[in-house]
Amino acid sequence: MQTNMLIGTATETGTESEEAILNPRTGEIIINLPEASGDQIDRAVFAARRAFPGWAKTTPNERSNLMLAIADAVDKNLEKLASLEALNCGKPINEVRNEEIPAVADCFRFFAGAVRNMHGPIAGNYMEGHTSMIRRDPVGVVASIAPWNYPIMMMAWKLAPALAGGNTVVLKPSEQTPLTALAFAEILASILPEGVVNVIAGQGVSVGNTLINHAEVDMVSITGDIATGKKVLMAASKSVKRTHLELGGKAPVIVYDDADLERVVEGLKAFSFYNAGQDCTAACRVYAEAGIYDKLVAQLTAAAASIVYDSSDDTLNEIPPLISPRQRDRVDSFVQRAIEQPHIELTTGGGRAGGSGFYYQPTVLAGARQQDEIVQREVFGPVVSVTRFTDEDPVINWANDSPYGLASSVWTNDIGKAMEASATLQYGCTWVNTHFMLVNEMPHGGLKQSGYGKDMSMYALEDYTAVRHVMIAH
Ligand code: NAD
Repeated sequence: MQTNMLIGTATETGTESEEAILNPRTGEIIINLPEASGDQIDRAVFAARRAFPGWAKTTPNERSNLMLAIADAVDKNLEKLASLEALNCGKPINEVRNEEIPAVADCFRFFAGAVRNMHGPIAGNYMEGHTSMIRRDPVGVVASIAPWNYPIMMMAWKLAPALAGGNTVVLKPSEQTPLTALAFAEILASILPEGVVNVIAGQGVSVGNTLINHAEVDMVSITGDIATGKKVLMAASKSVKRTHLELGGKAPVIVYDDADLERVVEGLKAFSFYNAGQDCTAACRVYAEAGIYDKLVAQLTAAAASIVYDSSDDTLNEIPPLISPRQRDRVDSFVQRAIEQPHIELTTGGGRAGGSGFYYQPTVLAGARQQDEIVQREVFGPVVSVTRFTDEDPVINWANDSPYGLASSVWTNDIGKAMEASATLQYGCTWVNTHFMLVNEMPHGGLKQSGYGKDMSMYALEDYTAVRHVMIAH
C-alpha cells in the first residue's frame, strides 16, 4: 500500500504523531499514519509556489491533455482505487467500483474539455481610443481540504477545476480517510510536472490549520463542516485569501399528495440512505402532505428496514457503516434525543447494529415537528425524519427555515406547483421528482451557511480563476 505523501517529486512519510486509520466494517486498525511536520507543509507549499509560473503558462490544450491522461489512469487503476476506498470508508465495493471511481474519471474528462471552452466576453472599445479585454487567469497556490465521506471524489472535485484553471495545489485529505488520496498522489506524480499537485496528511487542527494560515497560499478550498468553514474564513481574512466553501446540508424533501408514491419511496430508499446518509445532500428531512403521509411512512419504513448493510458478502450490501465510533455515537445521540419526544414515533431502526463495525440501523422517525432538533440539525447518518403538513401549513417556509442551503427536492405531478416551489426554495439545487442526481456539467454548491463555492461545471472553473481586465490605449 502506497502511504507516502507527495511533496514536489519526493514521496515521504510524515514525521509527526500517528493517526490510526480504521476499517469501519471491522473496527480494526488498517495502518498508523504519521502526519506532516511544519517543515513538510512548508516544502509542499513552496513546491506548489515554484511550479505555479510554469503551470500557469501552459495552454488549455496542454493542461487538457494531462487531465485526460489522469482520467485514463483512474480507469486503469479502478480496481486498486475502488478496493482502497472501500477498505478505508467501509463503502460497499459495488458502489465505489460502479459509481464513485467512474465519476472521478468523468470529472477530469469534463474539465479537460471545459478549460478549452472557457470563453470570456469579446474585446470591445468602452472608452474612445481604448480597447478592453477580459482575461481569466489562475489564482495561484490553492490549499484544498477534503472531508471523509467521498474522499477520492472530493479530491477530484477540488483538483480538476483548479488544475484546469492553471493553479497548483496542496491537498490535505481527511485524517480519517487518506488512503486513496495517497495512492492517487503517486498516479498524479507520474503524469503532472513537479510540484503541480502535492498531497500531505494530517489532522485539521494541526496540518489543516497551518495550511489555511500559510502566507504562500492564495486560495483555500474546503469541503466540511460549517464550523470548519468559519475557521477558514477567519484565517483567510488575515491576508484576504480567496475561499471556496462547500459546507454541510439538511435537505428538505417536500412530498405533495399528488406525488407518485412508489417513485417517492424508491427514491427515498436510495437518496436518504446512500453512503449511510453521510452525504451533505441526503434526503433526510421529509415533509409529507396529510393525504399521502400515512402510506409514505408505512412504505418508507418497510423500504428502510429492507436495506442490506452488514452482509458478509459485500456485493449484497447497499450502504456502509458509519465512518467512526464517534460518528456512530453522534448519530445515535440525535436519535435517542428524538425518541424521547412523545410526539415522535420510531418506525424502524433506532440503534447500533451488532458486531465490531460502526454500523447503524437505517432509521425512520415519524411525526417530527419543525422545531425538533432532528428536523433542524445535520445528523449525517442513516436517519430520516418525516413531518406531516396540510395546505394550511407554510411548508416552503419550513423547508427554508434552516441555516443550511445546499439541496432540496419537490415531489408532485403538478408542474406548476413544482415550478413555484423551485423558485421559492433557498437551496443551491432543487430536484423535482428525484433527488441526489449530480452531473459534471451542472454546478453543485450551496446558499446560506452551506457555503458559496460551486463544484463541477463551468462555474467551478470560474471559481478557480480570476477575472482580469486588460485595456490598450490606441
Ligand atoms: P470537517 O469540517 O470536520 O473536516 C473537513 C476537513 O477539514 C478535514 O480534512 C479536516 O481535517 C479539515 N479541518 C478540520 N478542522 C480544520 C481546521 N481548523 N483548519 C483546517 N482544516 C480543518 O468535516 P468532516 O467531518 O470531514 O465532513 C463532514 C462535513 O462535511 C459535513 O458537515 C458535511 O455536510 C460536509 N460536506 C459537505 C459537502 C458539500 O458539498 N457541501 C460534501 C461533503 C461533506
